[in-house]
Amino acid sequence: MAQTTDAIIIGGGLGGLVAALDVRAKGYACVLIEKKKYPFHRVCGEYISNEIIPYLQSLQAFPEAIKPSKLTRFQLTATNGKSSYLDLDMGGFGISRYQFDFFLYQLCLERGVTVLHEEAENIHFENDGFIVQTENQKIRAKVAIGAFGKRSKLDVTLNRDFIKKRSPYVGVKYHVKTDYPSDLIALHNFEGGYCGVSHVENNVVNICYLVHRDAVRKAGSISQLEQTVLYKNPWLEKIFSSAQHLYEKPETINEITFETKETVHNHILFIGDSAGMITPLCGNGMAMAMHSAKLAAEQIHLFLQNKISRNELEMQYTQNWKKTFAARLWRGRQIQKLFGSVTASNIAIQVVVRSKPIANMIMRSTHGDYVY
Ligand SMILES: Cc1cc2nc3c(=O)[nH]c(=O)nc-3n(C[C@H](O)[C@H](O)[C@H](O)COP(=O)(O)OP(=O)(O)OC[C@H]3O[C@@H](n4cnc5c(N)ncnc54)[C@H](O)[C@@H]3O)c2cc1C
Repeated sequence: MAQTTDAIIIGGGLGGLVAALDVRAKGYACVLIEKKKYPFHRVCGEYISNEIIPYLQSLQAFPEAIKPSKLTRFQLTATNGKSSYLDLDMGGFGISRYQFDFFLYQLCLERGVTVLHEEAENIHFENDGFIVQTENQKIRAKVAIGAFGKRSKLDVTLNRDFIKKRSPYVGVKYHVKTDYPSDLIALHNFEGGYCGVSHVENNVVNICYLVHRDAVRKAGSISQLEQTVLYKNPWLEKIFSSAQHLYEKPETINEITFETKETVHNHILFIGDSAGMITPLCGNGMAMAMHSAKLAAEQIHLFLQNKISRNELEMQYTQNWKKTFAARLWRGRQIQKLFGSVTASNIAIQVVVRSKPIANMIMRSTHGDYVY
């Protein structure tokens, strides 16, 4: 016999976890499926835009107890080391995904979300509901949220368009101890990529970079790449050579895609990176994942109260998602083109040096307002 529930959420990253908390807070039964066991590390810069704080507070889910770092200043450096600083008008906080996802997972359990640690293998829509198949069980649900991140086997099963295109980006992350200003988030350019550096909790510093896979191939290995390419930016050489690494190997991922995706497919509402990923240099993919969870939960609430039809649920969610995020994602893709290239990154630095208002305007254009 299949287990039945109101809402099923596949994927327990920040999007899925927050969606589960919100749907549950609205009074519905909710099953969250996450294939990995918490806590675990993820490749991520771990800088979260402050825009999301009011929403997390409204869910009583802001991780105050973990003592995230407060990030208020931004440094941009070009491949040759030329550097400029800006005060961030909204700013952000730094927290490891290891701690933050685990914190939200524990809240989910406390608040009555059923969490299954299995891989969702298939999802069908029939008789006005969903059937999700994992290795060991079937779950029936009235609504389904797809929160399975950048790329998942389920995208292949669902035959989503974007999955057919390869993506050339690789992500690498370290946690280190080093002497580094606790209020600063830096974006250091190097040929073929860029590297973020900022504090998370506990005086730990996150170093995370995105690089074209051809640069890794050319260098031969990650450590060769760092020494022959990243170190050409003197800021990166200084940070890497003074860093005391907290785990043996870096966390890495590949096939990071910024392709446009559908917001609804086979009646599933997609949130977070499953709906579209903003380039990491904008530093607000996590805030967007949580914000999209809010948009989905609002429409699901109306649907489960029989105030809107399924068709309206899907249309209204799509419209709200597009209104909130489509232009930001587009701008993120355009800005991404400026980075990783020697000439373009030098020009970007000149803009920041000469006109801080323009630089601030560009930065604001990829962020949203506070989410309540
Ligand atoms: C290099 C890099 C640096 C970044 N830096 C930042 C940053 O500093 N700030 C920022 O805001 N954003 C950053 N981002 C973006 C940010 O990490 C993402 O936008 C965010 O994690 C999206 O959350 P999500 O919940 O959509 O997906 P994810 O956090 O990826 O979670 C998806 C989950 O789904 C699970 N899953 C997948 N398939 C299945 C399945 N079939 N069954 C069950 N579970 C499944 C996965 O195990 C995973 O836990 C960065 C991204 C990269 C690549």
